Amino acid sequence: MDRLGLTAPPRPRVRTIGLTGGIGSGKSTVAQQLVACGTHLVDTDAIARALTLPGGRAMPALTSAFGPEAITADGALNREHMRQLAFADPAVKARLETILHPLIGEEARRQAAQATGLTVTFDVPLLTESGHWRARVDRVLVVDCSEATQIARVALRPGWDAAGARRVVAQQATRAARRAIADAVIFNDGMTLATLADEVRSLWQHWTAVR
Ligand code: ATP
Repeated sequence: MDRLGLTAPPRPRVRTIGLTGGIGSGKSTVAQQLVACGTHLVDTDAIARALTLPGGRAMPALTSAFGPEAITADGALNREHMRQLAFADPAVKARLETILHPLIGEEARRQAAQATGLTVTFDVPLLTESGHWRARVDRVLVVDCSEATQIARVALRPGWDAAGARRVVAQQATRAARRAIADAVIFNDGMTLATLADEVRSLWQHWTAVR
């Protein structure tokens, strides 16, 4: 009697997507392709940068935690100095995250609340490592590629080389750990940007279709 399936309970449409992947995997590229599909993007890396610019909301707490040597002459966080300290000392990394993560979460929520589209995508490079994001999004999309491809892409950036890229890859969550929390994985290796965009569009249609 119900050939059209009209009496079946409708499946809820995906409203929030957590987008993650290792350094150089192609997150930002996929994020922009999702924007082209119609999502509202909340970029947590951009939020972290804004919080640590001169006058940024994290600066008073960071200054009292790490002292004047962690601050540049114009009052921003000395990112290179902090990167090196955090790399060498897990306690510094933990302290930095204790200050930044709640502020990033608060600003991400504020931006999401202002979104006008049907779907919000949170670009969270450390989603796998941070734990609490998984429960805050309807779906997790992981952009994956081989470590060799990650290193080759990152080594092309100004100021980077293969050894530096390898060190960051080794410090991040493993590919297996990321895949373990994924609802969908895009393997962005050896495919053109146009093919990647096709995959992103297909997934978007699948996740946002009214059923
Ligand atoms: P990060 O973690 O450092 O922010 P990311 O994961 O956001 O990096 P992108 O910046 O999107 O990665 O991609 C890294 C580089 O690789 C960029 O120059 C991008 O244009 C290129 N790239 C990504 N995917 C492809 C692809 N399928 N074909 C060609 N180039 C690609």
